[in-house]
Amino acid sequence: MTLKFKPWLNQLPEYVAGRTIEEIKKKYNLENVYKLASNENIFGPCRQVKDFIKNSAGQDVNYYPDSDCREIRGKIASVFGILPENVILGNGTDQIIEMICDCFVNDDENVVIADPTFLIYEKAALKCGGSVIKIPLKDFRQDIPKMADSVNAGTRILFLTNPHNPTGANITKGEFENMMGKISSDILIVMDEAYYEYLSEGDKIDTVGYTKKYLNLITLRTFSKAYGLAGLRVGYGIAGSDIISGLNKIRLPFNVSSIAQKTAVIALENKGYVNDIRDKILKEKEKFYCVFKTEGISFIKSYSNFILVRSGEKNTEIVEELLRNGFIVRPGENLGIPGYMRVTISIPEINDKFLKAFIKIYKNYNS
Ligand SMILES: *Cc1c(COP(=O)(O)O)cnc(C)c1O
Repeated sequence: MTLKFKPWLNQLPEYVAGRTIEEIKKKYNLENVYKLASNENIFGPCRQVKDFIKNSAGQDVNYYPDSDCREIRGKIASVFGILPENVILGNGTDQIIEMICDCFVNDDENVVIADPTFLIYEKAALKCGGSVIKIPLKDFRQDIPKMADSVNAGTRILFLTNPHNPTGANITKGEFENMMGKISSDILIVMDEAYYEYLSEGDKIDTVGYTKKYLNLITLRTFSKAYGLAGLRVGYGIAGSDIISGLNKIRLPFNVSSIAQKTAVIALENKGYVNDIRDKILKEKEKFYCVFKTEGISFIKSYSNFILVRSGEKNTEIVEELLRNGFIVRPGENLGIPGYMRVTISIPEINDKFLKAFIKIYKNYNS
């Protein structure tokens, strides 16, 4: 007799996890390895968060966390001028995406996503017995009119990512407003804004404001990226109270740890820090652009803290050679964009080292 796993398990797309620093250190006998593969904030969280983790994060760990995340929900509500009942916390945004599909997608229903896009949307939808309608990117951007037109009677959710991952491209306010004006109010629109804090002020869309007007809209943000807390797993969703109370019905009671809740509060109290990070990243990004242009290497203009760069047919070899030199990047083959690679923008010193190594390797394989 063998165990009977559910059949859909075999259909789930596989997340090819990035290589770890330890793994690469050991494999190539390296002292320094730089992970530039998962778009983390290499500067780390703000000093106040670091101090808290060092000095008092261990207090009260024998108690369960606040199941309702009251303090952090109150904080988010006051920062955005909304009510705590409009906020839900997750063990990373990933978990909220999962909850959303669990709440809205039945067998034989579908969600509309871009192709390629962040993998979790598809995984969460398939897990519910649903399917995905994939709309190819157009010039590396989400084809929003086409996505909106592809909605059919079985569609429950439209997932959008701004800035997009893995391309770093943006969605304009005009594109967003046109789409919201057209789409039926019984379709849930998910605006995944994991990299929102990296947008310049003029490029930001006030999606939180729009959640008051559109009761079929949910905005997702995270502390994993610009706030530098990826390891603690905390993300949040903002929407009308009907959506939030639906999600709360299936949320596991203690889904966000007490340390994650507290550090998120401290991170928001020092919100100015993420603007400093954004400005530093903007400056570094210009450096990447400049080097790529000088070398005649094409890339996609990024609104985020990573760049998709055209490494060419020898991409696999280039990525491997970068590993041997201590740089972990994400090969486009794993992201649905062969011939490209995605690199996280790091601190100046590491960026300089990376660019030097990359250009040398790139030239070796493209001469
Ligand atoms: C990193 C990322 C997330 C979420 O991350 P969490 O760590 O689960 O909060 C969500 N969406 C996109 C597009 C991302 O790149």
